Amino acid sequence: MVEKNKTTVARPVKHEAAPSSFRRLKGMKDVLPGDYPVWDFVLRTAFRLADFHGFERVDTPVLENLSLYERSSGRTSDIVTKEMYSFVDKSGDRIALRPEATPGIVRSYIEHGWLNLPQPVKTLWYGPLFRHDKPQLGRYRQHHQINFDIFGEASPLADVQVIFLAHQIVSDLGIKAQVDINSLGCSDCRPNYINKLLAYYREKKHRDQLCQDCRKRLLKNPLRVLDCKEPACINVAREAPQMVDYLCDPCKQHFVKILEFLDGLSVPYNLNSQLVRGLDYYTRTVFELVVPSQTAERPLSLGGGGRYDQLVEYLGGRPTPACGFALGVERLILQLDENHVKVATSQDQPDIFLAQLGDGARLKSLLLFEELRQVGLTIRQSFTKDSLKAQLALASQVGAKYTLIIGQKELLDGTILLRDMESGSQEVLDFKKVKTIMAKRLGKN
Ligand code: AMP
Repeated sequence: MVEKNKTTVARPVKHEAAPSSFRRLKGMKDVLPGDYPVWDFVLRTAFRLADFHGFERVDTPVLENLSLYERSSGRTSDIVTKEMYSFVDKSGDRIALRPEATPGIVRSYIEHGWLNLPQPVKTLWYGPLFRHDKPQLGRYRQHHQINFDIFGEASPLADVQVIFLAHQIVSDLGIKAQVDINSLGCSDCRPNYINKLLAYYREKKHRDQLCQDCRKRLLKNPLRVLDCKEPACINVAREAPQMVDYLCDPCKQHFVKILEFLDGLSVPYNLNSQLVRGLDYYTRTVFELVVPSQTAERPLSLGGGGRYDQLVEYLGGRPTPACGFALGVERLILQLDENHVKVATSQDQPDIFLAQLGDGARLKSLLLFEELRQVGLTIRQSFTKDSLKAQLALASQVGAKYTLIIGQKELLDGTILLRDMESGSQEVLDFKKVKTIMAKRLGKN
């Protein structure tokens, strides 16, 4: 029986002692307040240009069925065999944290019947990807990509458009990159090339130089031997037969047309017969945006992509030609640092700093803060500080052009003090007119 009038007092929860410090997982990065203006600059530049080219934003979940990646990226790809974060969830489903964007976007294209929309469908996607890779500078276990895809367009002009767009974004960021490009042919011409490649690598003098991984790749995924990073394998690959010499006529015409347009658009490119991109789904064109690396033998890749004409059908949709491109956000940011690109931010120079003394002035100042925001002025303040000296120091530190001060006297008079931060001169303004005066002075009316 419940006793009447007896108050039960909740016992304080006993917490376990906190570990001395939590640290982020290996290969994961925090984006700190000082980093954000650069992220913002990269994303705004990319989104603005993508919008101009008619790409529409889509998002997909971070979690997908593991089998989606097994089927699209390929069971022998590094992403699936070595790098994927996967687990069985509480319902017993095999789940993966997305290691790349394209399979999820294609799944979404099929699931939502985008095929019934006017083609081509051009999508812009941005989000984090997870790969259990060996962390190093520019290689993280969580990184972010901006992806552009064009569905329902077989013309080489679609390939040109994604390459041109990616190159424009990188140029607008102030980075000088070139396009590495290759063609992997199609299911008609590639098998013949693979036979020639295998014959070359089976020669003892070539085979003996290969690393252990490449010997396995020869059996499972021979094209991957061409882009191994081991110096000895790079050496053997230099003399290997090249896919471009074995392209069938339609693949050759497709490739030549792309190169002609890149010439016409003055996009610098380099034919790279070792570029294979490591995923099963590419057909015909593959490309990467690269910059010279200070440390590695191979150039640093800022982004990559290609054509994947069979993937939509392979994942259960109707046959749909498609191509796409992904830029790595962290790599772009590292390049900006390396090129000392100065990023302009809205935080750079505020128009006005609002300073106040006492609670009455603080309330008036908060109301004025909103009014000035509405006329489009950039304002900084420190409503929590009491000392005028500290507030003026902060106003100079953030580079405000003017400081508006409300103290006890101004509160009673219905005035406000305007201080020009450069000259140090001060004038008294009628509080009711301050919004109009400041908007006029700062060119906002
Ligand atoms: P991928 O999806 O492997 O073709 O990579 C496309 C782009 O994403 C690369 O060119 C890099 O800029 C970037 N990227 C790929 N993997 C990583 C990673 N582990 N860490 C940081 N950036 C990455």
